[in-house]
Amino acid sequence: MKMKKDPFLKTDLNKNIDDWTKYIINSYWEFENGDFINTPTDLRNKFDISQHHLNKVVKDNSTTTLFLGKCIECNKNIESIETSQSAVKKKIEDNIFLCSDCLNKLNNKLSNYTFSRKREYLKTYVIEKKLWLMLTPTELDILTMISTYDNYFDFFRKVLKPNYNKIYPIIERLNKIALIEREQDNNGNTQYVVLPEIKKILNKNVKVIDDINIKTTNKSTIISDLSLNIPLNYNRRNTSQPHLMTIMSFDKDILIEKDKKYICSVWKNEDGSIDFKLTQLSKLENKNSYNNNKSKPKHISEIISKMYK
Ligand SMILES: [Zn+2]
Repeated sequence: MKMKKDPFLKTDLNKNIDDWTKYIINSYWEFENGDFINTPTDLRNKFDISQHHLNKVVKDNSTTTLFLGKCIECNKNIESIETSQSAVKKKIEDNIFLCSDCLNKLNNKLSNYTFSRKREYLKTYVIEKKLWLMLTPTELDILTMISTYDNYFDFFRKVLKPNYNKIYPIIERLNKIALIEREQDNNGNTQYVVLPEIKKILNKNVKVIDDINIKTTNKSTIISDLSLNIPLNYNRRNTSQPHLMTIMSFDKDILIEKDKKYICSVWKNEDGSIDFKLTQLSKLENKNSYNNNKSKPKHISEIISKMYK
């Protein structure tokens, strides 16, 4: 199963407009990985024009369509004509993968429900429709991170706080889709937790394969196989940042043995992510399994579709 792509915009410029106007419009709508490259403030300063004038130049000389993929109920394209960055952001934030007709139907159905009954309905709906598969890679990354951090406050400190403006809207969105739930801990602090059914699936993404040859101590595991999926780094802005990146935690220390030989293998996936596997050579010699396709680590999407088919 393919992971959903980021939302995208298509701008049609009116005929006979000058290059300067084209440049302003294209800069205004420059959009990558679900986010605008230039804020209106950047553009006002850069072109030395008022917000009103900027909006007018964009509106009067072009038409921009936002595409949010296909409706999960009727399979129609979810698309709309937009005239401002803020309207696009709101549409992306509110998108629950339904076209306007199907969204109206759902809202009518739930209109008499209490808040908590509505929430329970949504949670069942999310699992039935496997909505996490519809997330953009960045959204899925954040969901996976919340799921793998045992302690939400570690996640807050290490991941959320340094990138608050970028990540918090995604958290709000995951909460709105009912993939995560807002809770109060014993000290009254707000934290977010991933629905247990979904956590179970996401955490399979990182697996340390134990087998009988592995020597275990109380605190650590000497590995013979280690499999990881590393997604594209959608926040990459310059060459010093990695192409692929993820944050993961392990439930025990992992020891790689001195003087033993390991084979490092990488598979490139269709969605741009890689599967990385570290395999001890002596184990391979015994099993002679290196050329066997089955040695490729499972990608999360395969695991998910298997569990829910
Ligand atoms: Zn629909």
